[in-house]
Parts: sequence; C-alpha cells; structure tokens
Amino acid sequence: MRLLIVSNRLPVVVNKQNDGFGMEKSAGGLVSGLIDYLVSLGRKASDIQDYIWMGWPGTDIEKGDEALVRDTLQREFKASPVFLSKKLMEKVYLGFCNRTIWPLFHYFPNYAHFNLDYWNEYKRMNEVFRDELLKEIQKDDIIWVHDYHLMLLPSMLREQVSNPIGFFLHIPFPSYEMYRMLHKDSRTGILEGLMGADLIGFHTHDYTQHFLRCVLRILGKENHMGKIAMPDHTVEVSTFPMGIDFEKFHTMDVSPFPSSKPGKGKPKMVLSVDRLDYSKGIVNRLKGFELFLRNHPEWHNKVCLNMIVVPSRTDVGAYRKIKSRLDELVGYINGTYGSMTWTPVIYQYTSLPHKELIAQYRMSDVALLTPLRDGMNLVAKEYIASLADQKGVLILSEFTGAAKELSESVVINPNSIDEIAESIAEALNIPVKDQIRGNRIMQKRLKRYNVTKWATDFVDNMLKTSNISRDSVSNKLLNASLTGQLVKNYVEAKKRIILVNYDGTLVPFTKYPASAEPPRALLGLMENLDADVKTDIVIISGRGKDELDEWLGPLPLSLTAEHGSWIREAGEKEWRLFKPLSSEWKEEVIPILEMYTDRLPGSYLQERDYSVAWHYHRSDIEQASHLVKEVNDHLLSITTNISAHVIHGSKVIEVSNSGINKGELAMHWLNRRPYDFILAIGAGWSDELLFQTMPEHAWSVKVGLSQTAAKFVIREQSEAIALLEKLKTN
Ligand code: UDP
Repeated sequence: MRLLIVSNRLPVVVNKQNDGFGMEKSAGGLVSGLIDYLVSLGRKASDIQDYIWMGWPGTDIEKGDEALVRDTLQREFKASPVFLSKKLMEKVYLGFCNRTIWPLFHYFPNYAHFNLDYWNEYKRMNEVFRDELLKEIQKDDIIWVHDYHLMLLPSMLREQVSNPIGFFLHIPFPSYEMYRMLHKDSRTGILEGLMGADLIGFHTHDYTQHFLRCVLRILGKENHMGKIAMPDHTVEVSTFPMGIDFEKFHTMDVSPFPSSKPGKGKPKMVLSVDRLDYSKGIVNRLKGFELFLRNHPEWHNKVCLNMIVVPSRTDVGAYRKIKSRLDELVGYINGTYGSMTWTPVIYQYTSLPHKELIAQYRMSDVALLTPLRDGMNLVAKEYIASLADQKGVLILSEFTGAAKELSESVVINPNSIDEIAESIAEALNIPVKDQIRGNRIMQKRLKRYNVTKWATDFVDNMLKTSNISRDSVSNKLLNASLTGQLVKNYVEAKKRIILVNYDGTLVPFTKYPASAEPPRALLGLMENLDADVKTDIVIISGRGKDELDEWLGPLPLSLTAEHGSWIREAGEKEWRLFKPLSSEWKEEVIPILEMYTDRLPGSYLQERDYSVAWHYHRSDIEQASHLVKEVNDHLLSITTNISAHVIHGSKVIEVSNSGINKGELAMHWLNRRPYDFILAIGAGWSDELLFQTMPEHAWSVKVGLSQTAAKFVIREQSEAIALLEKLKTN
C-alpha cells in the first residue's frame, strides 16, 4: 500500500538556476512533521510500504523541463509535481484562499472578499490537481489531502476512483454563522467537496462540531457520533490535534548557538514567534507589552520582548498594512521606554532555521503567543518541548487550537490588552518549581501524542472507515452478475415469495408522507408479478391499514400494515390482527409525544390502532436533531416497562407493540410453506429485522449503501423497481 500525500505546495521548493534547477526542502510545521512520520514508515511494520507527495513545485516550469523536474523530484524527494501556471496558482492563492477562506475561517469577515471569480478559479485549480492525481493514483494507494486550498478534491476524486480518501484541515473551521457568509455556491460546494472523503480531520473538537453543524444546516445531513451516511460511503468526522516531533525539539544539540537563559543580572527574555499575519495578534501583543511597561516600572531595564516575525504574503494589502503598524509600534515603545543600555523590543523580521529557533526557545524565560485565532499554533508546542530544563512559562491565547492541550500554561484572552499586560507580570513571577511542574505535565502529553502518533492515528482511522464503507458497499453491491443469478434462481424456483417494503423501496421517500401514492405503473408491475401462481407477494409497511387500502386495496396480493400489526391475506378484503395486541400503552406514550410536539414547531403526531408516529420532517433540522435524541431516550426509558418498542425511521419516531416487527411477520409467511426463492427488499431501519430473520438461501436486498444486515445492497429506489421489472419479464 502506498500513501499519497496531497498538499498545495510540495515539501520541496524548485528554483530555476543558470545550469538547471535547485531543489530545497521547505521548512514549516506540516512539512517537517509529516516527513518525520513518512520516514518512520520504513522503520516499523506497517501496511504502508511507500509514499509519494504531490503538490505544486513553487514555480513555473516550462513544458520542455517538466520531465527532468519530475524525474529529479521523484528520485530524490519522493515528490511528484502538479504543474500549474504560476499565474493561476497566485490568482487562487492570493484570491479565494487568502482573501476569502483565510480571513473568514479566522473570524476576520471584514478582511474577506466575496468574489465569484475567485471561487471559479479555486474550482479550476482543484480540477487541475484532480487531473494530475488521476495520472498518478494506483489501485492500492490511500490518499491524504491537506488543507484549505484543496477542499473540493475529495469529491472530485471519489467520482473517479475508489481508493480510501482522507482530508485534514490545518486551520480553524468556523462557526455556522461565520461560514454561511460565503457565497451560496461556495458554501455548499466546499462541504460537498469535503464529503467525498472517508475521514475528515480537524485540530479541535470545536472545529469538528462547527463543521458537523454546517453539514446539518446547509446540506441537511445528520450525523451519528460524527458519522455521516452518504449514498455510496460513510464519512467520519473526527478530531486529531496535530503534534510535533517532540524528541527533535527536546534533545537537539543547538551548538554553536547559546541556549541557556540569561540568568541573574541580565534582562529576562520574553519571546514571540509567528508569521506576519493579522490572525496572530501581533499588534495587540505590542500594545500589551507597552501597557505592562507602563504599569510595571519595576521591570524597566529587566525584561526584553524578543519578537521574531516571519515575512508572509507580502503581496496582500492587509499584510503590508500590519507590517507598517508593527514598525511604528516597535519604534514608539523603544523610543518611549528604551535607553542606551536597554532595548525593550528586539524585532527580527526573518525566518530562522530550527536549530537557531530551538536555541531561542531555550533562552527565553517566557513565550508570549497571542493569536486572535490560530488553527493549532505549533510554536506553542515547540516552545514547551524545547525546554530541556523544564524552566520557562508559556502565555498562550485561548483562541489557538494548542490551548486545548496546553492548559497548564497561562491561558489568556488576547483581545484584552490589560490581560496581556498582567499575564506578562504574572509569568515573570511564577516560581521555578511551579514552572517545572506544569511543563513536565505538558511535555509528557506532547511526547505521547507526537506528530507520528497523530499521522498514524489519522491514517489508521481512514483505513478503518473506508474498509467499513467498502465492506458494506462494494462487497455487497448487487452487480449485474449477481442480479443474473437472482433472476435464474427466480425462474427455476417452484415456489417463490417476495417480501417488499413500501416507502423508499416501491416508491421514493417523499418530504410529505401523504404524497407517496403508488404510480399506475407500479400497480401494474405488482399485479403482473402476483399473477404468476408460483409467486406470493407481501407488501410490508409501517403505514396504517386505511392508507394501504386506499392505495393498494384493489391489488390481490398480501398486505401488512403498522409494521405487521395488521394482515390482509391475498385475495381477502378484511384485515385481521397478526396476534392479540394491546393499545393501552398509547395512553402513556401519546402525552409524552404531545409535549415534544409543542416544543418542536412543525412536528406532528399520527395515531394508528396499534402504533403512534411522531413526524418531524417539516421542522427545523437542527432543532429537531437535538430534540430527537431526548425523545428517543425518554421513550426508551418508559417502553422498557410497557409492551411497546421504539423505531427511529427517516425523520419519524414510531412506537408500536412489542413483538410486532417485520422479522416476526416474515416468519409467519415463511413458515407456511417451503419457498425455494425468497426475496426481501427494504430501505429503512425497520427492515433490518426483516433481513436478520431471512434464511440462508434468501436474497435480502437493502436500498441505499449503508451498514445493513441484508446480504446485498443497491444504490437507489429506482433499482429496486428495475429488479422487480426483470422478474416480471421472465
Ligand atoms: N518556524 C520556523 N522558523 C521561524 C519561525 C517559525 O521554522 O523563524 C516554524 C515553526 O517551527 C513552526 C511553524 O514555522 O513549526 C509555524 O507553525 P504555526 O502552527 O505556529 O503557525 P503557522 O505559520 O502555520 O500559522
């Protein structure tokens, strides 16, 4: 098995030089973390024997040079380039990616541009990636797509290949109210694009919940414990907080750089490290530091803020503005408070290699990280990991993903300048013993859930989810050859029975239950099948007998209503109870359901002789999905003591007599005579009991590709009709 990593940029930057191409490994948390995981694959027993990384090589490559660049990247870096014009890449990167998604997902709607051209270019870039990937993908590959540049890729790939697909988002996923600000096409398109994956991962539980809520509100899809049923696969949505290579940061020898703290008599060092980005809260940090100096003159000459700012997205106007604001503020603080012997803010506008960065981490008494929003913030984890002596204090914004795992640090709200100022004073006074105690706990956590564990967890889960999907889907799909066998069995059989569910099988599920009348062609088909003396047909429905009488009454076949409470035998006009039933339990159940009907606008009760149904298809989907869990639990708690049971169907909860289910009912028909052809087709939850009771030689078929006790699955309702049509013509 080969792991195919896909990201916007390759982990290698290609540069055109006079005599060919220069190729340099790029830095950054994702790249260095993943490379460590990929290298570790070779060392341990794993299903994954090899990997390849696909992405843009970072520059325009002329057609004539493509083969050379491809060969070199593959040979030396296990990388495969997606050749895109720099023009398109920049348009998308500086357009939809960094002017729409980035600000919106980081809760800066004022910086966001909602431009349809941006969205169209984004789609085009994802298509180019898809086309390149299709040339590369092999049968046994598993595909892991990374980050917000490629959110449409999972579905684009799923339409073409059946390999397992995973997606991980490295930035926050915003709340529904923020996300819905996107243009209609893009807000639906992104969610649909992601739903092509088997597994979608986020850094924190909050991002996962935000995503699930958007899927519910915008796509109308509910989840069960983070699992969403799609027509041809199950999507699992889960949380995987990205780790770092703990050992590297903890043990790296950083010589010749100094790495010890300044010590007595020297100013204490407060460090901050981030890319120049409005989401990082750099301006607030400087304001906080200035306020700290104003409020705490006792610290003058005794503390320095060492600010490392990495240049980033210098082509975007908003970034240039922050840069000049920073320059201004640093000048103001140093001018106001500094002296010949003391520079309060040391400002480095540069990117440091890890060795030097780790030295800086170890030299610092305090790390001050104040993002207004940050998907994770790896710097926070790296700082803690680097403290070989476990001395140092991390001040961390509560709006970073990392804050969820680093709660022993000083967690602050970076929107409050006062809080920043006071946290610096607090951090400088924390006793060394307490520093060590907190850091030890955090280091243990970071060591355990390091980047390799993070990636292994993600990949293992992706394989598990896709295997489950594939077991229930591909392996069970009633393909042409199986259909041929089924028809042959039918033709050769002496006595046949077809047990068929109504809603979702003979007619499609409808929004309004009362509008599911059978079309004329369906009545003709059923009559035709039933006309053969060798064939018995039983329609098994959860609907009431009056409705069935009205719609299917004239047909001479057998009908059962209310999941089997009532039976009307073939050729008879009268309905009879399947067995003696009581409806006393309704007195207890109806008031409960009435109470929930009052609480959920749009829901309504349908009372039948021996069952009660509570429908909520007209209600607000999110409100309903919360309440339904409560209704279910409430009903389950009382039905253990009464003779009724609860079934959760499609936007309906039904309570009916215990001992009445489609399985028991099926046995009633099957015990009457030996059948050498049995076909059971159904679409809903209540049909699962029908499938479970089928004898070994029966054909049980579920409509819809999801987990089922049926032996076979078909994709949609029209295929159920097509199957019955095949039996008719034979
Ligand atoms: N980094 C670096 N050199 C620097 C500053 C930062 O290599 O001078 C690395 C740092 O080690 C970290 C990454 O850049 O792994 C920044 O990741 P983070 O999640 O903190 O922020 P992002 O830039 O991804 O928003």
